[in-house]
Amino acid sequence: FLAGRRALITGSTSGIGLAIARALKAEGADIVLSGFGEPEAIAALCQELAAAHIPADLTTAAGAEILMAGAGKVDILVNNAGMQHVAPVESFPPEKWDAIIALNLSAAFHTARLAVPQMKAAGWGRIINVASAHSLVASPFKAAYVAAKHGLAGLTKVLSLELAEAGITANCVSPGYVWTPLVENQIPDTMAARGLTREEVMRDVLLAKQPTKKFVTVEEVAAMAVFLCSDAAQNINGANMSIDGGWTAE
Ligand code: NAD
Repeated sequence: FLAGRRALITGSTSGIGLAIARALKAEGADIVLSGFGEPEAIAALCQELAAAHIPADLTTAAGAEILMAGAGKVDILVNNAGMQHVAPVESFPPEKWDAIIALNLSAAFHTARLAVPQMKAAGWGRIINVASAHSLVASPFKAAYVAAKHGLAGLTKVLSLELAEAGITANCVSPGYVWTPLVENQIPDTMAARGLTREEVMRDVLLAKQPTKKFVTVEEVAAMAVFLCSDAAQNINGANMSIDGGWTAE
């Protein structure tokens, strides 16, 4: 049902973004990939999805401008690129703070401000921001990530109000813990910050949050993104769709 729609998914060379790209492609959308990785792996993804790939660094406004200029007209904008750093606030590296705010929050502002004029002209658009359970609740040692994701949820609400009459919706999709490289890579720092073993981090920090005691899958997050692009979802606007096994119900 997305034939003729062009979807740009930031951070789509891995994890959740890649699953969203695959799911939107399966509904017929044209795909623009963004993000980094091994050249051979990215070339294979471009072939699999008949997609373009634009490797812009989204920690800068200039990078977002390169991405949007290369992407052309975008009907579906999925702001998904993100990173994490785990450290106590007093030793949280300021440069990590700046980079996480830039990628997880400011990049979504830049891509949206550049995509909106074309969406308005077309009278249709979907902005889907991959936030997190951490857009609704906090965890210790994730100052930058939690601040950025709460900010992203706020930005999404503003976009939803400004664009409601133009046929454009803006929503957050907020997963709990999904097994991707982003989660796997934070285990060593979480072990250090909390003085735990790998198994204790998995059981007592990650899955302890999720009442289901299971990781969310990338396909489940992608299915929500597809639904938000459908006509049935045209009045879902400014919402924060939790996919967290009940984490934020507590
Ligand atoms: P991932 O590490 O698997 O993928 C991150 C993607 O972002 C990659 O394609 C990477 O190349 C790209 N990227 C990294 N730095 C970039 C930069 N400077 N410029 C452009 N692209 C860059 O991560 P993931 O787990 O799939 O996470 C995707 C999104 O989902 C993130 O916003 C993350 O915060 C959010 N999220 C993840 C989880 C989880 O448990 N994995 C939970 C909630 C929210």
